[in-house]
Amino acid sequence: MPLNHQKTVCAPCFEEAVRLILDAVAPLRSESVPLLDSIGRVSAVDVSAPWSTPRYDNSAMDGFAVRAADCEPGAALPIAGYMPAGATPNPPVGDGVAIKIMTGAPIPGNCDAVVPFEAAEEINGFVRLTKPIIAKQHVRFKGEDISAGETILAKGDVIRPVHIGVLASFGKKNTAVYMRPKVAVLSTGDELVDDADDLVPGKVLDSNRWAIAASVRECGAIPVILGIARDDAQSHREKLQAGLHADVLITSAGVSAGDRDLVRDILAELDVRPVFRGVRVKPGSPTCFGLRGRTRVFSLPGNPVASLIAFEEFVKPALLKMTGHQRLLNPFLPAILASDVRKSQGHAKLLRVRLEQRDGMLWAWSAGKQDTGVQKTLLRADALALLPEDRVSFAAGDTVSVQILNAAMAEAMEPAAHCTALTSNYGATETGAARSA
Ligand code: AMP
Ligand code: MG
Repeated sequence: MPLNHQKTVCAPCFEEAVRLILDAVAPLRSESVPLLDSIGRVSAVDVSAPWSTPRYDNSAMDGFAVRAADCEPGAALPIAGYMPAGATPNPPVGDGVAIKIMTGAPIPGNCDAVVPFEAAEEINGFVRLTKPIIAKQHVRFKGEDISAGETILAKGDVIRPVHIGVLASFGKKNTAVYMRPKVAVLSTGDELVDDADDLVPGKVLDSNRWAIAASVRECGAIPVILGIARDDAQSHREKLQAGLHADVLITSAGVSAGDRDLVRDILAELDVRPVFRGVRVKPGSPTCFGLRGRTRVFSLPGNPVASLIAFEEFVKPALLKMTGHQRLLNPFLPAILASDVRKSQGHAKLLRVRLEQRDGMLWAWSAGKQDTGVQKTLLRADALALLPEDRVSFAAGDTVSVQILNAAMAEAMEPAAHCTALTSNYGATETGAARSA
């Protein structure tokens, strides 16, 4: 369905909300950037090798270039020349001689092997071979590495130092990557202050702006901090209007049922068309998503824990898709609950858990009090366990799906756990990318 004809969905389930978001975003245009600035970004093009490498036969070792046929065990060959790295190839040498050669130097014509220093003795201008020699040994032959036309960087690859090295080895100075979305970040609320000096009773420091901006940057997008909208319509109007110039606008707070929660109404007044209002998942249930022109608008809850979890589940996949990533969703893995858990009906729950591996199995412990006002539990959590909407009680020993938040822990996981990753919880890990491709 064309984006602007989607109906507004009232509180979809978690999986459906993610799908609606991914359907409404597309990768941005590409831009050419200097090679070094492309690190960590996503290639917008396939790049093929303009020529084959190496460009000429060269030595893989420091030693002596020889003709293998001249190398009887124990033979002593006169040293007839010297080829340092960077030397231009010489005319072919005669039979029965050795040329002293350094790694990377062109192999002289007529030679077909290199005897490393470790397999030779140099005495009075002769080299005596101490080990058997096989033709082609320690020679890097022309074209044996990368062939002309071979893909060295594919569209969708996240650019790593090795890509940059290979591109540079072919003389590339720039490369095309997906653009980074500009993401306006707006906090709302009369209780918020910028500075600890203003922290009188009743006020709280605006921490969401920093946590959200940091999350934006972690996704490779560019945060633009708009500051704080006060709990009055005019302040909301001005700030939201400014944010609608960005590719993405993220607000936090003021989106629930409070009588001074103005975000939804003012966004509607500014012609932002809601795609959904609320999601059947906790934390994060007040999250709304809407569109105006090319701007995607996420209204996140105010509690710092809820806004970060909502970012992780709803905003991050969108920003990854906009920046050209193929892998948009953090996969779910099976884990065993270590204690009983209850939840209420009518919504899924993302439980903050700690993980431990025992005998190749992953165990999930509650990371502490689960109220969204408790930041400590998120600080401690390794993962979010998804407790489905249709169940209220879970017993110790039940298998649940967990999504790892802690990157260091994800890397340390035994490969077996990764292999059994559950990808079905909210569609396959690449659903959105595949659909939009
Ligand atoms: P609200 O959604 O406006 O009712 O806010 C919910 C809770 O989140 C309140 O306790 C707010 O003080 C808190 N909160 C809202 N915005 C922020 C923010 N930017 N930084 C820290 N806490 C916030
Ligand atoms: Mg508020």
